Amino acid sequence: MRDIWYKSFDCPVCEAYFQAPRVFSNSIRVSKRESDLMPHYEGVNPLFYDLVTCEHCMFTAFEKEFSNPKILKKSELLEKISKLSRRSKEIYKDINLRENRTVDDAIAIHILGASTYHILGGDRELSEIYLRLGWLYRLKGDRQKELHSLGRALKYFERVYQTTSDPEALQRSLFYIAEINRRLGQKNEAVKYYSELFQRFRNVQSVYLKTARQNWEEIR
Ligand SMILES: [Zn+2]
Repeated sequence: MRDIWYKSFDCPVCEAYFQAPRVFSNSIRVSKRESDLMPHYEGVNPLFYDLVTCEHCMFTAFEKEFSNPKILKKSELLEKISKLSRRSKEIYKDINLRENRTVDDAIAIHILGASTYHILGGDRELSEIYLRLGWLYRLKGDRQKELHSLGRALKYFERVYQTTSDPEALQRSLFYIAEINRRLGQKNEAVKYYSELFQRFRNVQSVYLKTARQNWEEIR
């Protein structure tokens, strides 16, 4: 059974047509999750394919930026993105944008994705990209870069926490602010945000609450 299919896209930056690999949803099999919910997979790793990259100009973003690209209608943003693309094409010309990606391909793609959202703005997207970048470095066994990426994710989860009105995003950002602080050895901060998570979502049953209670037990 094939795990990968190719989806057609029109690039909002260079306007070229291209196809990018996507993972069939029934090929995704989570074998375990770590204490920060980092998933491990049997077979194909969908984290390697969560961002879409235009193979012509290297514009890299979540799929929504291709299906609804009005975000790029502002000419100054488009100019900045185009400049970034030209640089990326030189630096990342060797990455594999098709199937059978390696963890190094996925790391490069997430760095490209982070550059996109530093231009477009997007605290939620940046928090997710840096979290996944941390996980990719963990897979690779590079602990220093893992912690550095998680530290950057923390900064954007804090911004989401301060600005969001979406309860799901608030729950997720509180969980990760607490958990990343715990992993960075900042116990007092971890305890503070775990407490806030428990207080605000007292009656909620979710994977965040369940996992947070276990992690909290470990640092008490
Ligand atoms: Zn393009």
